Amino acid sequence: MQVVDTVTEMKRVRAKLAGRVGFVPTMGYLHEGHLELVRRARGESETVVVSIFVNPAQFGPKEDFEKYPRDLERDLAMLKGAGTDYVFMPTPAEMYPPGFNSWVEVQQVTERLEGAARPGHFRGVATVVAKLFNIVQPTRSYFGQKDAQQCVVIKKMVKDLEMPLEIVIVPTVREPDGLAMSSRNVYLNPEQRRQAPVLYKSLQLAQRLWQRGERDAVKIRQQMTALIQEQPLARVEYIDVADTETLAELKTIETSALISMVVRFGNTRLLDNIVLS
Ligand code: AMP
Repeated sequence: MQVVDTVTEMKRVRAKLAGRVGFVPTMGYLHEGHLELVRRARGESETVVVSIFVNPAQFGPKEDFEKYPRDLERDLAMLKGAGTDYVFMPTPAEMYPPGFNSWVEVQQVTERLEGAARPGHFRGVATVVAKLFNIVQPTRSYFGQKDAQQCVVIKKMVKDLEMPLEIVIVPTVREPDGLAMSSRNVYLNPEQRRQAPVLYKSLQLAQRLWQRGERDAVKIRQQMTALIQEQPLARVEYIDVADTETLAELKTIETSALISMVVRFGNTRLLDNIVLS
């Protein structure tokens, strides 16, 4: 496994690669969810490239960019174990040199949910992912369903701009108690951690209601909210029922829906979602 830290070197390496290149963009502090993406890439590519870049452009001024968890040595050991060939780890100055002035804005699907809660977030995500795609030129790039809106935004960008690669979405990897794995779970104190599986429990409740024939989005959201409120430290930020492609809000679920949610424990925002179909 080779570590590459400049754009010039990554492009030089890429130019010499033959066959399929599988690419997994991450912000590091890796867990089994990230490794699942790497394993998928490994199974379908001659070369696997993983990036570790905590992208300042996707954090708001009051967000956790400075204190985002980092453990490079552990990340590298995990990536080596999962069969990674190249780890691209640029600095912020390398990705955003003085005078950097071009941004990718995906409209409409970024308006609600995380886009509304975190202004500018998806502009930062789309821009860095577009830039990484241009540097790595992957055949396929792998993203986790855990960040459902991000998946929709990236797929839309690739389609609208005719980017020459395929996007692969990998199911959410969970802890044994159902909590979706996330680098930010480390922020939870023991009592918050004990209550956190309620997100997945409420999504499973939504799925049961749907399977029993409930089609009213308001009723599903009410029952989910009631379940979450049984946990004293949980604060519902939003529970949303949306069209899986446009992310427009649905009042009635006809054939399918994305139920996505953010629940706060203290200052920690936990995201989760499920697709009903
Ligand atoms: P991050 O490092 O949080 O930016 O995540 C990098 C990639 O890993 C994104 O495509 C995430 O959606 C994906 N990812 C994060 N957590 C999980 C998880 N629990 N299961 C599957 N994919 C995940």
